[in-house]
Amino acid sequence: MKTVSDYFGSLVFDDRVMKSKLSSKVYQSLKKTIDEGAQLDLSVANAVADAMKEWAVENGATHYTHWFQPLTGITAEKHDSFISPSPDGRVIMDFSGKELIKGEPDASSFPSGGLRATFEARGYTAWDPTSYAFIKGKTLCIPTAFCSYGGEALDKKTPLLRSMEALNKQALRILKLFGTDAKYVRTSVGPEQEYFLVLKELYEKRKDLIYTGRTLFGAKPPKGQEMDDHYFGVIKPRVEAYMTELNEELWKLGILAKTQHNEVAPAQHELAPIYTTTNIATDHNQLTMEIMQKVAARHGLVCLLHEKPFAGVNGSGKHNNWSMATDAGVNLLSPGETPYENAQFLLFLCAVIKAVDDYQDLLRISVATAGNDHRLGANEAPPAVVSIFLGDELNAVLEAIETDTPYMGAEKTQMKLGVDVLPKFNRDTTDRNRTSPFAFTGNKFEFRMLGSSNSIACTNIMLNSAVAESLKIYADRLEKEEDFETALHEMIKKTIKDHKRIIFNGNGYDDEWIKEATEKRGLMNLRTTPDAIPHLLDKKNVDMLTSHKVFSEAELKSRCEITLENYCKTVVIEANTMSQIAKREILPAIEEYAAFVAQSANSKKALDASIPCIYETEAVKKLSVLEGQIYERTAELDKVIVKVTDAADVVEESYLIRDELLTKMSELRVACDEAEVTTAEKFWPFPTYGELLFGVR
Ligand code: ADP
Ligand code: MG
Repeated sequence: MKTVSDYFGSLVFDDRVMKSKLSSKVYQSLKKTIDEGAQLDLSVANAVADAMKEWAVENGATHYTHWFQPLTGITAEKHDSFISPSPDGRVIMDFSGKELIKGEPDASSFPSGGLRATFEARGYTAWDPTSYAFIKGKTLCIPTAFCSYGGEALDKKTPLLRSMEALNKQALRILKLFGTDAKYVRTSVGPEQEYFLVLKELYEKRKDLIYTGRTLFGAKPPKGQEMDDHYFGVIKPRVEAYMTELNEELWKLGILAKTQHNEVAPAQHELAPIYTTTNIATDHNQLTMEIMQKVAARHGLVCLLHEKPFAGVNGSGKHNNWSMATDAGVNLLSPGETPYENAQFLLFLCAVIKAVDDYQDLLRISVATAGNDHRLGANEAPPAVVSIFLGDELNAVLEAIETDTPYMGAEKTQMKLGVDVLPKFNRDTTDRNRTSPFAFTGNKFEFRMLGSSNSIACTNIMLNSAVAESLKIYADRLEKEEDFETALHEMIKKTIKDHKRIIFNGNGYDDEWIKEATEKRGLMNLRTTPDAIPHLLDKKNVDMLTSHKVFSEAELKSRCEITLENYCKTVVIEANTMSQIAKREILPAIEEYAAFVAQSANSKKALDASIPCIYETEAVKKLSVLEGQIYERTAELDKVIVKVTDAADVVEESYLIRDELLTKMSELRVACDEAEVTTAEKFWPFPTYGELLFGVR
């Protein structure tokens, strides 16, 4: 039998394959490109392309594609075969360095937010050699960035790579001041991914799931998640078979799938990989989501990645575990052994605290979607207010520094001036706060506001850039100072003073906290996507992101536009789906059942006029009232849909959706869900919540 280590990474053109397939000269020069970003010359690219093709063909590939991540949030691919005609009328398999490095998909239909008129539509894709090529089905996939001919980013990878570079540059300046040796600093991410599994045959009967990925109707079943019996519960055989195959597929692609368990809601599960470099983690998370869905189909299941597929039970999120490390593997968010190392740790910690406070809006924006608006602040996910949880020990250390008082931790050290007296403290692993949006968990931060279908690129772009900005401000100051230690101590102290409002160690689900956060601490509460997105163009955000060359102003404008457009389109599709289902499925079903009951009463009365027909009479009355409501509310919904689509611009449109359309949608739903529980099950046109949530066995 093949063991996991036999086939792990078997579909990846990774370092091991490169070493065996490339001459040592070509390998060295490619390695230099991967590690240090050195330019790759065409002869090397040709040799790499040739080896890649040979390896891919050996492994059954017939096609190649530049695999990229346009602003739709999912991945895109256009396959070309390797075939090239040969003079004898046959074909050879061919792939050049040019084709490896650059592609020109006719990608005119991807959103560009005005960056690219359709007549000059041809963007280009450029190879990202730091993320390994891999085989999916019969296609060699080459991870690429996607740009316009003017050089503007049209994807999520380009700004992510730029943000990693920005952080690298500033972190190296800081490390130099501490005399810490490093060639580069990279951020790493381990994204925990939640998802639901439902039976495919039930899914196919629900147009809301098919068109929108979530249920738009559905009465609460007798049982939900109140027993807490699903979380970490025994995994059912069918789900286990699914997870087994999913792991195998992911492992073949070199994805470090590590942890799997049942989540809180019935039918909800989680998968977490071992962390890796941010851009690779991003590629892997996109692939993971794709493969989760593919494998589900083979098991007669559908994997739902929507943030809120079901009302009344938890939705699905994604936790972005994030840290920074040097090429030597030193985690900069890990408290060190000596006071001096701890000073370095504290400075990096402060850089994150400052970044999260200064750019709380950007973090919120990075997770803003129509789907995620149902979760944030709904007592199942962190609130829409960003805050940081540090744990008791670190908190005490920071307080002691801020107030120049003795640190009353394990070693009771006086915290005064220079770094020599900063105490040694242990990493705090006992403290767990599940309600904090941004929690320090020993040697990394865990950002918990992401929705399950979000690309993790957006969050990490903002996080990397904001931290790069803090580090830049620190480096600009410290590089000028004669007395490094005193300046450092003062800087840490000042950061704590200026930014302690963002630190909150209590219960983030508490309404009191939201009051305190917004009224006393002045933190932002950007409740919905339309509230959040326009802040992307606030001057401080544009200044920061453009100064680190992560985005140009034009790129930011286009992203603002695209995100809002996406929000509007998503909700309008939901509203249209609701209207159709109400008119074409729900009303006819109720009508049929009411007629059936009325008929039955008539027959009873015909048989013997004294037979009481209380149920029949009341049910038909109630259903008729509900039918009237559903009819009227659908008409109102239709009216608001027209109003929304007629809005002057996308900002206006998003406000109309937030303030009017969503209300109309929930009013319609209430009437329909009430009708559901009054109608006989066999007359109801689609599977119920109970069947969907408890169907997989
Ligand atoms: P939980 O938050 O559920 O307790 P874990 O502590 O096991 O989960 O970690 C969750 C994720 O954090 C995993 O993907 C893990 O690889 C990742 N992780 C661990 N250390 C780091 C680190 N230094 N940087 C980034 N991610 C990390
Ligand atoms: Mg976690």
